[in-house]
Amino acid sequence: MGKDTCLIIGSGLGGLACGYLLARCGYGVTVLEQGRQAGGCLQSFRRGDAVFETGMHFVGSAAPGQLLHRLLSAMEVLPGVQLAPLDTAGYNVVSLGGRCFRIAGGREAFVETLCRDFPDSRADLERYAGLIRSIAAATSLHSLFTKDTDLSLLTDYQTRSMDSVLRATVADPLLRHVLAGNLPLYAARRGRTPFSLHAFITDFYQQSAFRIVGGSQQIAESLVNSIVRRGGRVLTGKQVTAIDCDGERATGATTADGGHYAADYFISDIHPAATLGLLHTPLIRPAYRRRVCALPNTTSCFVAYLRYKKGAVPYQPYNFFSYKETTPWDCESYDETTWPKGYLYMHGCHEPNPRFARYGMVISYMGMDDVQAWAQTSTGRRGADYEAFKRQKASRLLDCVARDFPGLRAGIEAVYTSTPLTYRDFTGTPGGSMYGIAPDLTLGAGGRVSYRTRIPNLLLTGQSTNSHGILGTLIGALQTCSALPGAAHIPDFFS
Ligand SMILES: Cc1cc2nc3c(=O)[nH]c(=O)nc-3n(C[C@H](O)[C@H](O)[C@H](O)COP(=O)(O)OP(=O)(O)OC[C@H]3O[C@@H](n4cnc5c(N)ncnc54)[C@H](O)[C@@H]3O)c2cc1C
Repeated sequence: MGKDTCLIIGSGLGGLACGYLLARCGYGVTVLEQGRQAGGCLQSFRRGDAVFETGMHFVGSAAPGQLLHRLLSAMEVLPGVQLAPLDTAGYNVVSLGGRCFRIAGGREAFVETLCRDFPDSRADLERYAGLIRSIAAATSLHSLFTKDTDLSLLTDYQTRSMDSVLRATVADPLLRHVLAGNLPLYAARRGRTPFSLHAFITDFYQQSAFRIVGGSQQIAESLVNSIVRRGGRVLTGKQVTAIDCDGERATGATTADGGHYAADYFISDIHPAATLGLLHTPLIRPAYRRRVCALPNTTSCFVAYLRYKKGAVPYQPYNFFSYKETTPWDCESYDETTWPKGYLYMHGCHEPNPRFARYGMVISYMGMDDVQAWAQTSTGRRGADYEAFKRQKASRLLDCVARDFPGLRAGIEAVYTSTPLTYRDFTGTPGGSMYGIAPDLTLGAGGRVSYRTRIPNLLLTGQSTNSHGILGTLIGALQTCSALPGAAHIPDFFS
């Protein structure tokens, strides 16, 4: 009897991680990717000598012995991919209404650094730091299935909003806003984003924070190579247009170029609503379809990619979160006059310890409404008015960055841009959503999408099924793959 086969739709981090894990378990793996390049948001793109990241700018917990280091080492990505540490004295800087606050790595330094700005808040900071750590430690996400999960603590903070817990823990309103300053990393919304998500992501970067030297594309390349080495294949330019089913199971996937791929098992790494769009079978109940398609998605963004003149812009080993007002909240609600309410500015790392940056990226929330006029167009064919729109938005965004970094404009050689349409067409995510389905505690269990479907041999993976980001997506891939026959031992790869 031949080995079982698994067909994976989409080559984002989730799809490639599943491909790697299943190839290692002996499955015959085929990954189908619609784009010309594998990787989804792991892709980097080159303009001149600058290599820009599209969706993986920095990672956390990647020092030897820490969680992401263990995951990436076990998946043979490390040590091949080089990481460059951010400044532990302030890996994030949060600017509120023009006043800057540094977020230091490690619990003690974190508390001491913020105590300089908020000397009366030491006890609150200690309490907050303890809470973050205990919530992160309470979940199997951080212990890789090896420790007991403290379900009561987790459930409590999964059902309480980030803003309400911050209010209950920290008295000083400005300090609360500083602590919430990293919220673009998970597109948090008042009253809806669980505090637990804030805790996981904050703790992840508090442990240690790094950029990927030369770009995150290397993670995708490493996973593709490992899949191929184990006899699998990753086929690009293959857009899946249908998942075919008989009365009980999925039988194959059809691609836009007329190809048909049969397999024993199927995993979809694309947005759950997009997956449902590929399924025309009564096996999927209408109520499930309606629920999943109605779930809210995280916002999209406008990005200005800056290529610098050589030796003109000193490299910044930190991320800069800037807000016009003294609050990081509600930046997704703007109008023509108030956009952008905030932005995230980061340098790319082209070599270990660079003195000067070659490129930087400025990201600001933007919704699909702003680009609706061009919704029916495709990449490269959106017209002169779209180009003018992008130039105007980039100029507006750069005015804000230049207020925080006077002289920056003189160092810029070229500016490239992307909009929600770029992300929509590049990842296939509704509205170009950055992180897929938005965690929303007001929806309870109905707000989540399980990796299992009603079709027994079709599973889901990717950022919308567990959590987004490098950690959430990798852990989601472990969970998805472990459910397949002969793959329950996958967690052992990481012990
Ligand atoms: C601007 C931005 C910045 C980010 N920064 C960070 C960061 O610094 N650190 C971090 O940890 N995370 C970051 N993230 C989040 C992280 O990139 C994602 O959570 C993660 O990469 C998502 O992986 P995925 O597997 O879910 O899918 P995706 O990366 O969305 O990939 C899905 C793939 O499926 C393909 N596809 C879609 N439809 C089809 C089809 N019909 N047929 C075949 N293929 C199809 C797409 O082309 C794509 O390649 C960022 C995201 C964004 C948008």
